[in-house]
Amino acid sequence: MRQICYEEMSSRVFNIWVRAIFVILVFSFVQCRTHQLNEKADIRDPSIIKPITQMQKTEQEWLTELGAEKYRVLRQCGTEAPFTGKYLYHHAKGIYRCAGCGVELFSSDTKFDSGSGWPSFFDALEKSKIRKVRDTSHGMIRTEIRCAQCDGHLGHVFEDGPKPTGLRYCVNSIALDFSSDSLSEH
Ligand SMILES: [Zn+2]
Repeated sequence: MRQICYEEMSSRVFNIWVRAIFVILVFSFVQCRTHQLNEKADIRDPSIIKPITQMQKTEQEWLTELGAEKYRVLRQCGTEAPFTGKYLYHHAKGIYRCAGCGVELFSSDTKFDSGSGWPSFFDALEKSKIRKVRDTSHGMIRTEIRCAQCDGHLGHVFEDGPKPTGLRYCVNSIALDFSSDSLSEH
């Protein structure tokens, strides 16, 4: 009788271990599979931007910091509707900064009315502050512009601007913050 009970107990303990190991294996596989799918999604989906500089934040941190609309434009390559941005007809003298990180991007001295419906500049304060990325979305070949410091999406640059550069930096108002201060010293 004791022998049977012992065997029954051993069998139960063995079954529990087998089930536990099975659950751990299944859980590990699901975790791994989910991770792989997320990595593939990141590569395939150009709307998912990974911060490239020291300003690495989680998507949730960006969303909390920026709010839904700025997050949609800056972090998900969104576009504000034409003729709706707050800086389209803004003519004050000053500096336009990245709304994601505050770095100085454009001067009011280079702002012009392009008729496109978005704030337009014919030059950037410093070329190194803006990163250009080939954009083939929506059936077009365009050059996307991003803030080089936080990798926030700003808009696009086209080669149909006025002299002296011939460039048109077409920027979402919501990706910019204006201040009437002069350029800060670095
Ligand atoms: Zn930035």
